[in-house]
Amino acid sequence: MQFTELGLSAELLRAIGEQGYTTPTPVQAQAIPHILAGRDLEALAQTGTGKTAAFVLPILQRLTAAQNTPLQKVTHTAPRVLVLVPTRELAAQVLESVRVYGAHTGLRSLAVFGGVGINPQIQTMRRGIDILVATPGRLLDHLGQRTVDLSKVQTLVLDEADRMFDMGFIRDIRRIIERLPKLRQNLMFSATFAAEVRELAHAVLQNPALVEVARRNAPAELVSHAVIKVDQDKKRDLLLHLFAAHGWHQVLVFCRTKHGSDALARKLEQSGVRTAALHGNKSQNARTRALADFKAGKLAALVATDIAARGLDIDSLPRVVNFELPNVPEDYIHRIGRTGRAGASGEALSLVSSDERIQLRDIERLLKLDIPTSVMPGFEPQHNHSVPRPAAGRPPAHKPAQARTRSGSGDRSGAPRSPRPARSGGSAAKPASHHSGQRHR
Ligand code: AMP
Repeated sequence: MQFTELGLSAELLRAIGEQGYTTPTPVQAQAIPHILAGRDLEALAQTGTGKTAAFVLPILQRLTAAQNTPLQKVTHTAPRVLVLVPTRELAAQVLESVRVYGAHTGLRSLAVFGGVGINPQIQTMRRGIDILVATPGRLLDHLGQRTVDLSKVQTLVLDEADRMFDMGFIRDIRRIIERLPKLRQNLMFSATFAAEVRELAHAVLQNPALVEVARRNAPAELVSHAVIKVDQDKKRDLLLHLFAAHGWHQVLVFCRTKHGSDALARKLEQSGVRTAALHGNKSQNARTRALADFKAGKLAALVATDIAARGLDIDSLPRVVNFELPNVPEDYIHRIGRTGRAGASGEALSLVSSDERIQLRDIERLLKLDIPTSVMPGFEPQHNHSVPRPAAGRPPAHKPAQARTRSGSGDRSGAPRSPRPARSGGSAAKPASHHSGQRHR
């Protein structure tokens, strides 16, 4: 299928062509016709699937079509489309997509989010906008100050709805929805269909079309996964070793806490790895600059927390390192969604200490994948990594490191395995890469 078959206007096809895209991604091919037809939509699609264009393109099309109808040639000042997103970064990225795809439509757009001054937002809103992208908190501020008029909203998009729940935005969202006209089109995108997401979908969507592009919880197919077992207090040295040994660049490193990301970023920077930390305590300017520097290749590492990294759009990021595993296994999928995009291969490497064995087991269960495990000579863990399980199947606590390709968690067959990275989605594994323990001798 080609974009030209979707019934999009010449202005949009031109902008799509300028991006170099010819073929719609699966979520685009499935969602665009429903949205153009004015239907409500519930889409299961993760970051990296092209979901943003899947709603932005048909929304732009419907707005321009309305604009071009002679009888409706009125100048709208209040937004006709509201896109709610969980984070500032995602707001900025969605706005960027609206502007890129809408470059030849003359439609006006604005993103409002916290952490930056509210006055420029108010001024732009007064001049009139067609599409408003917003985080819930800042939008409620505008509603409180009566600086936004939501009475003309025809289409509501809830992007990354699952994340809105994770971040505790559900009440804010309900308050915002109460202020919208009852008759409108509703589009909801989520990476998971968790129970609370379904509940919201039920409350908000009217007879929605369903689009599901990835197997439930299936991560990007081109990502290879690997684990190095190491004690918690050796992780920093191991990470530095990996940077030094391989000249890594553009590595997104995940930590569980803001404090942890700051400490790790400092350590990397002190050791000569150009690094920035990205988390919620950073000012918006610092976050924007860190992301721009990282994308431009000026930083070798970006150390981020899950929330800060949500929805980051970084093209063909080669590698994601989990310095700590996430507590929620679904977050592993969100994390690795930033690599292996748009046909490029990517790698997800996790440094796993003995206290994280349960998280590793849960991630493997979710992925339905045994992640190859190795140890790095010189960084062999001193602590037992095995997952508690029935006595008969318990492996010896201290095997020699070199033999320990699968010493512990998730080893459901007990058979020895190669330390090659595993690929999800059934595609072929590539040969052992830099992080297989044996090569690092
Ligand atoms: P998203 O899932 O919206 O975060 O998009 C992921 C990435 O895919 C973005 O960098 C888009 O620019 C890119 N993209 C979107 N649509 C297409 C397409 N049809 N062909 C190739 N890349 C695309």
